[in-house]
Amino acid sequence: MAHQLPSSVDVTAPAGPAAARLASLYNLPAEHQPPWGPGVGEVRTLLSQSPPLVNHSDVELLRTKLAVAQSGQAFVLHVGECAELFSMATAEHIERRLRLYQDLADRLANRTNREVVLLTRMAGQYAKPRSQAIERIPDGTEVLSYRGDAVNDLEPTPAGRRPDPRRLLAAYHHSRDTLSRLDALSSAIDRPAFVSHEAMLRDYEEPLTRGGDAPYSSAGHLLWIGDRTRRLWNWHVQWAATVTNPIAVKIGPSATGYDVFDLARTIDPHHEPGRLSLIARLGAEEAAQRLAPLLRIVTESRAPVLWQCDPMHANTRTIDGRKVRLLPDVRAEVTGFVSTLRAVGCHPGGLHLEVSPDATTECRESRTASSDDDDGQRPPCDPRLNPTQAASVIDHFAELVTA
Ligand code: PEP
Ligand code: MN
Repeated sequence: MAHQLPSSVDVTAPAGPAAARLASLYNLPAEHQPPWGPGVGEVRTLLSQSPPLVNHSDVELLRTKLAVAQSGQAFVLHVGECAELFSMATAEHIERRLRLYQDLADRLANRTNREVVLLTRMAGQYAKPRSQAIERIPDGTEVLSYRGDAVNDLEPTPAGRRPDPRRLLAAYHHSRDTLSRLDALSSAIDRPAFVSHEAMLRDYEEPLTRGGDAPYSSAGHLLWIGDRTRRLWNWHVQWAATVTNPIAVKIGPSATGYDVFDLARTIDPHHEPGRLSLIARLGAEEAAQRLAPLLRIVTESRAPVLWQCDPMHANTRTIDGRKVRLLPDVRAEVTGFVSTLRAVGCHPGGLHLEVSPDATTECRESRTASSDDDDGQRPPCDPRLNPTQAASVIDHFAELVTA
């Protein structure tokens, strides 16, 4: 069973060449870091003295499972909230999310007759990159954008939006609570639920990097690098290259063949199966055309990449002042992804979805909203599929990959 909380208080700091390699990242620029006030140094020290969140053996177990998926014998379902909130770290909410994710994974497994590796966006998905640093609230005041509960508060007031480094400690504790709940729930379930989040904040990720001379991130089983922070020589990619966990990188419409080639060579220089996933999020209209040349370059490099499709992040539209995602866009990107991979004999390895356990109306079928399409609720971050919509996207993917 995965994600048992580490029993011993292993706070082994990276040592030897590994420590030197991590120290060499010190001067690298890191994009999307919050302007913390004072106190971040102390928080880093406390985090570095805290027990690891995940076990190294479970990290390795995930890697072997991703290698099986990469070889074509399994699929990955990578699923969860866009932004976890601290208020979601309750027994009830964690159970509702886990049950939904397990049901969706069972559905994909049943419809494809393949094993499914369940990778959740849980226990650390508390930091968000934002396109706009500033948000104007209805009374005209400008406040800092919400950057996730690990940084500031969703409440749009100047005080609420001030970055507070103590939130990094709260993120750690909520992640730990979430993992212990998942662990308790998993005893009744065959399929382990691995946890992942976007490795975003260096003041969280660095102190939780552990493991003597083979450093690993003890903050999650898989860490991914977002489309906005995948620049080769910046901190995010170089840190990811240093830890031994499975790593994923989001690939958006601006990615070139050189970018993906360099990312694969940097993060997976030894071609270790299960090490690197590329998550294509290229947009419904151009998914196929944009993906084909990237795929060709990765295939020629022989890097054993697991390809996932995120049909959501390049399909966010603003309609009547509201951020929405339309199901026809989501399905079209999935179709373009599967057909492009299939055309070159590559395995369409998995789906990456943002899903809510609530009956949200953040995503919908068409541009014109019916009266049922606005329940007045707004997502904390990006529009999420509701459970029925998520099931329909999974069915669409399953139909394509089994055709
Ligand atoms: C996300 O997954 O929530 C996200 C911000 O993704 P991307 O980096 O693909 O925009
Ligand atoms: Mn998102």
